[in-house]
Amino acid sequence: MEALWTTMAAFREAVRSTDLAILPVGSLEAHGEHLPLGADILAPVRLAERVAELLEGGVIVYPPIPYGHSWELAVYPGTVNVPDDVFRAYVAAVGISIAESGIRRLAVFNGHGGNIGALRGAAEAIAEHGAEVAVWSWWLDFAPEIRSICQGQGHAGEDETSVLLAIDERRVDMSRAHVHWPEQPLGVRVYRAGGALEEYRWAQSGDATLATREKGERILQVVAERLAEALRKWRVTAR
Ligand SMILES: [Zn+2]
Repeated sequence: MEALWTTMAAFREAVRSTDLAILPVGSLEAHGEHLPLGADILAPVRLAERVAELLEGGVIVYPPIPYGHSWELAVYPGTVNVPDDVFRAYVAAVGISIAESGIRRLAVFNGHGGNIGALRGAAEAIAEHGAEVAVWSWWLDFAPEIRSICQGQGHAGEDETSVLLAIDERRVDMSRAHVHWPEQPLGVRVYRAGGALEEYRWAQSGDATLATREKGERILQVVAERLAEALRKWRVTAR
């Protein structure tokens, strides 16, 4: 069930029968010239919907946290960047409040790489309040499955563009999809103010031209199935 459309009475009833919830977390961020700014919100929200369908109830889906930590790509138009410590504290506060309302297992579906560091800290803080927290970042945690569908991965690259095509192909402008593989001469990321303008060029990495709606459907399907499996396992684990 969706917390967004649930009444107080129905929520009270729901937490009597389940203690499991999904919290999608994203970022409003530049995603190439072809994808919407909301790509990192739309993907985890869609996954949460699919997982809830697969579980046939027994999970409460919370509305997403849309603004994330996006320091690197804040140099591009439309990106909203929340500082890492503010974002961590905010997500922790949301999660702690959810835990206090009776949710003991919180599945965070993350759509954005820049959030990962802060989400670890937030998960630890929520866990201190008695809940279990697990964070999934779909393109990383299911990379082997995705790489069996796509030739490569990237920011607004083949995999993410395919997923957005599957969500709503009318909102993706494939005529503006590019191929761009950023270089890391030192083998690690170098933090440099404004560096993303050169490194990502169009706020994109990977080959977005290879993306198709069909690949996106397959990615959503396999990732949702894996997530549903994990949540089923988690739900039956007695503590
Ligand atoms: Zn993204």
